[in-house]
Amino acid sequence: MGNNNAHDTHAGPANVVETNERYVVTVGRLITGRPGESLADQAVAVDGRRIAWVGDVAALPAEYADWARADYSGYTLLPGLVETHAHFGARPGSAPNVSDPARHVQGWNALHSLHWAQQLASLGVTSAQSLGSKYFTDVALREAINAGLAEGPRIVAAGSMITTTGGHDWKDSGEVDSLDDIRHAVRDHHKAGVDTIKAAATGGFFTPGTAQWKAQFTVEELRTLVDEAHRLGHPVAVHAHGTQGIRRAVEAGVDYIAHGTFISDDGTTRFDPELADQIAEKGIYVDVAAPPSYPPVEGETIAPRALDLYRHGVKIVTGHDIGAVIPPNAYLYGLHQLEASGIPRAEILVAATSRAAAAIGLAGVAGVIAPEYDADLLIVDGNPLDDLNALERRQLIITRGQVFHPVPVEEYHGRKRDGKGHTNNVLEERFARVSRAALQNW
Ligand SMILES: [Zn+2]
Repeated sequence: MGNNNAHDTHAGPANVVETNERYVVTVGRLITGRPGESLADQAVAVDGRRIAWVGDVAALPAEYADWARADYSGYTLLPGLVETHAHFGARPGSAPNVSDPARHVQGWNALHSLHWAQQLASLGVTSAQSLGSKYFTDVALREAINAGLAEGPRIVAAGSMITTTGGHDWKDSGEVDSLDDIRHAVRDHHKAGVDTIKAAATGGFFTPGTAQWKAQFTVEELRTLVDEAHRLGHPVAVHAHGTQGIRRAVEAGVDYIAHGTFISDDGTTRFDPELADQIAEKGIYVDVAAPPSYPPVEGETIAPRALDLYRHGVKIVTGHDIGAVIPPNAYLYGLHQLEASGIPRAEILVAATSRAAAAIGLAGVAGVIAPEYDADLLIVDGNPLDDLNALERRQLIITRGQVFHPVPVEEYHGRKRDGKGHTNNVLEERFARVSRAALQNW
């Protein structure tokens, strides 16, 4: 693939998209986002924000023949990628350079959120679900992008997390302790305009006084949360590391599990095949989050079980916990790490497009290149089904029919681990230290 004249060629077709409301993109290869669909020499007609027609270039109907033509025939088109588990907001420890930074916390947070969202979009991520954002910044971010105040990915917002008093992420979350509290919190989130309800079903690594293997809510409490959320039309995602919390969440009927680490009572990962089967049977989506920690290294006591879940038929999606500790530029690294875990590339691409979109409430809207879907398009040089590195060679990113202008994104240097699971990365070392400390202190 490629073209000697690449530079000129790109200026041309990108400009066609930039300057026309209606246009036809022709590509050498189309990966639709649906399992197993990879087609040669396709045309995609875009009318405003939506896809009007998709099919063989040779079969382009007459009504689209005189629309402006963007020729990417040497390239591959796939749906814009999806991040299902982000936390937009200021990086911990960062603050405005003034004497009283506390006065600017919310504004700083909002601007950081936009910056991270734009970094994600610059990697071809055209939809991102925020699973916990202080001050409901993610709702404002969604609205700002929808209103055209800034370019960015489509945002699906959960607002602040719902947790127990002193529970995981309590500093940034709404604390609840009774069924009435829970109903009120869900209704209040609905009132604030969230899309998804996110609750912390177990403790987490970064909240002292919580244990990842302990459930925070009873089944009855979780069921109340799920019922109220569903009544108001919101799916429910839970943070769950521990097996006890995962089991309760599955019983309560949640829609999405973040982490799914199967940490047992001794504080170490012990994969539970029967519980995985239940997750698969119920069609619950799972992200394994935190790309620096997979694939598992032998001897590591806590490890994501992406491959095990995949083998049990669980609907894995690409949620990397971007923002909490993992920077946005780790998104593609995360896809490579899933591949290194043993998951086939075709499965990863589905997990990152159609399935991820469905997991965040965008079924029929995003994640697939087909008529009536929004035109979220990613054009790359090479075939990512053969080599995920093709995703690094982006030619054009289109969000809801319009060209997205990338912002600079630093390369992410993932870990190199020695045989003992030690890494060369400060953040990852911090991760490891925190989990070891949690074990020792409990
Ligand atoms: Zn998270």
